[in-house]
Amino acid sequence: MLIVQKYGGTSVGDLERIENVANRVAKTREKGHNVVVVVSAMSGETNKLIGYAEHFTSTPAKKEMDMLLSSGERVTAALLSIALQAKGYDAVALTGRQAGIVTDDTHTYARIESIDPTAMQNAIKEGKIVIVAGFQGINKNGSVTTLGRGGSDLSAVALAGALKADQCEIYSDVDGIYTTDPRIEPNAKKLDTISYDEMLELASLGAKVLQNRSVELAKKLNVKLYAKSSFSDNEGTLITKENNNMEAVLVSGVVLDKNQARVTLRGVADRPGIAAEIFTKLADANINVDMIIQNMGTDGLTNLGFTVPHSEHENAKKLMETFDHEMEGMDFDEHVCKVSVVGVGMKSHSGVAATAFTVLAQNNINIQMISTSEIKVSMVIDEKYGELAIRTLHEAYGLDK
Ligand code: ASP
Ligand code: MG
Repeated sequence: MLIVQKYGGTSVGDLERIENVANRVAKTREKGHNVVVVVSAMSGETNKLIGYAEHFTSTPAKKEMDMLLSSGERVTAALLSIALQAKGYDAVALTGRQAGIVTDDTHTYARIESIDPTAMQNAIKEGKIVIVAGFQGINKNGSVTTLGRGGSDLSAVALAGALKADQCEIYSDVDGIYTTDPRIEPNAKKLDTISYDEMLELASLGAKVLQNRSVELAKKLNVKLYAKSSFSDNEGTLITKENNNMEAVLVSGVVLDKNQARVTLRGVADRPGIAAEIFTKLADANINVDMIIQNMGTDGLTNLGFTVPHSEHENAKKLMETFDHEMEGMDFDEHVCKVSVVGVGMKSHSGVAATAFTVLAQNNINIQMISTSEIKVSMVIDEKYGELAIRTLHEAYGLDK
C-alpha cells in the first residue's frame, strides 16, 4: 500500500516525540508499505513566529509572513528525516515546492492549484521514505505561500489525492471523532466510521482533529481518511464515502454551538426584495448568517429570524436598525445556542426530528428556531440549557451504547 501519514504539532512537539513518530513511520515501512509523511511545525512554533513578526508591526506583509511561517514545518521535516536516517532508513525531506505543490497568490491563505508528484514518485521508487513539510507551496512566481492555519491537513489530503494513495492517516493527540464532546458528556463514544458530509456537519467535534477544508477536499478527491492518535495504537475513526451500512445508524453525533446570537424582525413589510436587501447588507459587512427562518406573511407583514456569530451581534443590530421604518419591531438575544443532531440515517428513517423535540420538551426546554437538512436537525435554544440538551439527546439516540 501507499500510505500518507500526517503528524500534527503535538505529535512532533519535542525531540522525543519526533523520535516516537520516526518509530511509527519505520514500523509502517517494515510492514512493506510505501510511506509519504507530512508534518506540522512543532506545537506552539507557528504562534511563536507570528509573535516575532508582531514585535515589529501589527500588520506585517503577508508575503514575508509566508516566508517566516513556512520555516516551522521545514524544521520538523528535516528533523524527522534525520531521525529516520539515524535508524538506518533511507529518507528524504522535501519542502512544499520540492514536493511539487503550486498554489494561487493568496498569501497566508493560499489554495492548492496543482501538484506534480514526479519528485515524490521517483523517491518512492528508489525505496525512500518521503517527508514533506506541510502547510506550504509556491505560487507561479516562485514565492512561498502557506495554506491557512491548520493547513498541513490540507497538504496531506492533497498529496494523497495526487499520489493516488490507498489511505491518508491524520495523527493528533486525539484518537478519533466522538459522538459528542466528551467534556460535556463523558459517555461519548468514539465512532469507527463516519461519512464526509456528517464530518463536515460535526466540524466542531473534529476541530482539534481535522481541519474542515481538508475534509472537503478529501470528499472531492475521494481520499480515505483516518483520524488517529500518535500516542496510542487505537483504531481511530475512518472518514469516507457514504455507504449503505451507515444508513442503518440513525444518528452519528450531537453537537453544541455556543457561538450564536439570534435576531428576530417582527412585522416586516412582505414585499419582493426585502430579504435581499437585509441579507445583502449583512453580507457586505462580512457577517456570516447561519440559520434563517421566515414564515408565511399575513396582512402584508411577515416575521424573519436568523442567527449570527456572537461577535457580530452588535454589528448586526446596528445594521438592522437602518430598516426600522420597514418593520414593527426587532428582538435580539445573544444568550442562545444551537444544538444539532447529525446522521445520514435520517435520509431513510422518519421520526428523528420528532424524537429531538420530544426529548427537549420533556426537559422543559423551549425551542426558539428549527432548521433541517437531509442529514441534520438544528434547534436554537436558551444557552443555559445547551449542555443539558446535548446530554439528553445523546442518551435518547442511544449514542452512549
Ligand atoms: N503550523 C501551522 C499551524 O499551526 C499548520 C498546521 O499545523 O497544520 O496552523
Ligand atoms: Mg492541526
